[in-house]
Order: sequence, then structure tokens, then C-alpha cells
Amino acid sequence: MLQTSGWGAGRAQPLIRPGDEAHNQTTSDCGDETTKKQMTTYLSESTTCGACGRVFIHKSLASTNSFGSPDLDLRPPEMHRSTMASWVQRCPTCGYCAKDVSKFDEKLRCVIEDANYQLQLADKDCPELASTLICAGKVSEFSADEVAAGWNYLRAAWAFDDQKCDPPASQWRSRAADIFAGVVAKGTPIVGGAGGSQAIIVDCLRRSSRGTEALAIISQALEQDYDDVIRQALIFQKQLIERGDVACHRVEEALPHPVT
Ligand SMILES: [Zn+2]
Repeated sequence: MLQTSGWGAGRAQPLIRPGDEAHNQTTSDCGDETTKKQMTTYLSESTTCGACGRVFIHKSLASTNSFGSPDLDLRPPEMHRSTMASWVQRCPTCGYCAKDVSKFDEKLRCVIEDANYQLQLADKDCPELASTLICAGKVSEFSADEVAAGWNYLRAAWAFDDQKCDPPASQWRSRAADIFAGVVAKGTPIVGGAGGSQAIIVDCLRRSSRGTEALAIISQALEQDYDDVIRQALIFQKQLIERGDVACHRVEEALPHPVT
């Protein structure tokens, strides 16, 4: 689970290996040359699809780093930012998409054989990574893992962002916001730290042109005893919404005087 340290903008954040549904960032004071030279590395791993038995090679992330500020929805900065394709697996035969396709519950077969699921994978107008993440989200939803579903859909929005596909990016961000809001309403946070979940939902809503709903959450959240980074992020979001800004912004932009 992502720690509130993810809101610490502008700090060097070497990351060794992603593991959780969010980004398993670790904060550090390291800005030394050794850390800066740390590169992204991958492992080519043989994977057996639990749904159809196909054996294929997946490039898994062995190590990477994050330097600078994450976005307001905690999408990490480079180099971790560009490693998304390694975060999810897609069987080239049956199309089963999951964080680990070697694990399969037979109850999921109706999901991956569904016509809409297969059409999504075959959609040539959709970036392949976005389709993979959308389908992984469908699998997560059917498995009642709503937190994973929300993250998969938000990551699909990131994949659309990278290809400058604005309408679907907004659509899937909006879907992620609804799922996250449902999770939080049940009392489960989607990231660690008080107010962190609300801050991410607000960004999803703002960027999908649902500013009025975002402002209502901000108003409620600012009445809570959240830490200064969260409060500054929410105040910044309010300013963005008031000027109709639906673009990507980083956490560090919300912190004119970074909290230490
Ligand atoms: Zn398969």
C-alpha cells in the first residue's frame, strides 16, 4: 500500500521493486551519484497462463527509480513512470490479463471469454497497454477486488494519456473515481495516510471534468485534520477546478513551500 510519503514532492525516491497495487515507493534522502545512476532493469521470466496453459515470456521489473514529484494522482515520476507495461501480464493466447496470470480461478473464465472483453483486446484503435489494463480491471471487478480494479482503470487512463487519447483517458479516470469512492464509502482507504484517498479521487474527478463533485469532496476534506501536504494538494485542486484546468499536474506544484 502506498504510504503518505508518496505525497512528499520533489524528493529523490529510489525504488527497488513495485509490489503493491499502488506504487511501492520508498522515500530517502539519497540524492547521491550512486542512487542517480541506478537504472531500470527487467527480468525475462517464463510465465504459464493459469487459464489456458500457454507459456510465454513476461518482462518483469527488477529495479527502477523515481526522481522528482509524482502527479497529483500519485503516478510516479521517471523512470518508474515508463515501466507500466511490466506491471500487468497478458496471455497472448486466451487474453487473460492480471498482475500474475499464473493464478486463475475457474470462475473467471466467463469474464475472459466474454465478447466485450475479447473485443476490447482486439480493438486496434486502443493502445495495447490500455486494453490490457482495462481487461485486468474487469477481472479485478469480477473478483470483487475493487481497489485493484480502480487502480487498473486509472493506469489505463495513464496509458491513454501517454498516447494523447483524451476522451478515453477521461472516461476511465471517471470510472476509477466511482470505484474508489465506493471503496472509501465502505471505510477502506485506497492508499495509506488520512486524506490520501480523497486527494486521489479529487484528481480523478477534476481530470474527468467532474469538478463540482470534486469541490464537494474538497470542502468536506478540508474540515478534517489532514496533514499539510494533503491540505495543500486539495487547496491547489480547488484552484485548478475554479479555472477549469483538467490537465495533469504534479504534487510539487501544490507545495509552494514544501513541507519537510
Ligand atoms: Zn491464457
